Amino acid sequence: MRSNNIRLNCGITIPILGFGTYSYENDRQTTEQAIQTALQMGYRHFDTAKIYGSEEAVGNALGEAIESGVIGREDIFVTSKLWGSDHHDPVSALKQTLMKLGMEYVDMYLVHWPVKLKPWACSAVPDEQDFDELDLEGTWAGMERCLEMGLCRAIGVSNFSSTKIQQLLQFASVPPAVNQVEMHPMWRQRKLRQICGENRIHVSAYSPLGAPGSFWGSPDVVNNPIIKSIAIKHRATPAQVALRWGLSKGTSAIVKSFNYERMKENMGALDLRLDDNDMLAIERMVERKIMRGDFLVNQTTSPYKSIQDLWDDEI
Ligand code: NAP
Repeated sequence: MRSNNIRLNCGITIPILGFGTYSYENDRQTTEQAIQTALQMGYRHFDTAKIYGSEEAVGNALGEAIESGVIGREDIFVTSKLWGSDHHDPVSALKQTLMKLGMEYVDMYLVHWPVKLKPWACSAVPDEQDFDELDLEGTWAGMERCLEMGLCRAIGVSNFSSTKIQQLLQFASVPPAVNQVEMHPMWRQRKLRQICGENRIHVSAYSPLGAPGSFWGSPDVVNNPIIKSIAIKHRATPAQVALRWGLSKGTSAIVKSFNYERMKENMGALDLRLDDNDMLAIERMVERKIMRGDFLVNQTTSPYKSIQDLWDDEI
């Protein structure tokens, strides 16, 4: 039987299919219910962040399941992320996250973006005056301190281009275990995957379906005729094909659905196998960087402006 976990450079394992908890509505009850259902379906990796406002819901739902003996803490994998306004003090930020989660540690703590904001900036789309000069070395030293203190089992980054990864590796005592980035059949991250692979950094794909139905995303991945034809061939769904494509590339995926049928459907990607022709057909598809390309670049005050190099990475 194939394992649904991947071993990271720091020795711990990460489940290959993660459950995203960012929803625009941010309804705590809906999020908690979805997490409880996800646990029953077999999801074991839960992805949250301070800026999502979902840490309390994740903590409540998982805490209840642990308390009632449904699952052990050691059987689940929890990821949270350091927001830009906390770069000056990752240890305090993670302690606050742990308080919201009601946990003693997270399994993975990620630098959410290579963007530093003033300590008071708490919006996902900050104002121009909220930006501070990035001090990656200082931020990473704080992340390493979190690890030393046992507040997390592993540290990593998110939305780091291959250039930023190489910069970080110049001074990191502990290399990042993960780089979580947007990746799907229409933004395949070839160069980034190669650089990360050479440095034993695991790539985790967010928005693996291209975030259909979200205002920041697009249905272009699940509606793509090539993805659809591969799905028909395997009696699968386009979402399952998109997810399995990423898993076949050795990445893990963080997919969000709070809908029972779609949560189940997404889990079904673990049973799908794509052949060489399917992989080649996807490789030949025209790329389009959905989320960051359209929605974010057009926002002049967005933190994403300063990570232009991520979507400028050669593909
Ligand atoms: P996604 O998982 O690709 O797409 C989610 C959207 O697709 C939701 O609107 C969902 O609606 C719908 N959906 C889910 N399964 C589907 C299916 N089988 N068929 C058709 N539609 C389906 O994108 P995402 O939400 O942007 O990313 C997932 C997670 O990654 C987030 O929740 C978050 O945890 C993480 N993330 C991280 C970053 C970062 O900067 N590190 C950025 C973005 C996201 P329903 O809920 O109604 O099913």
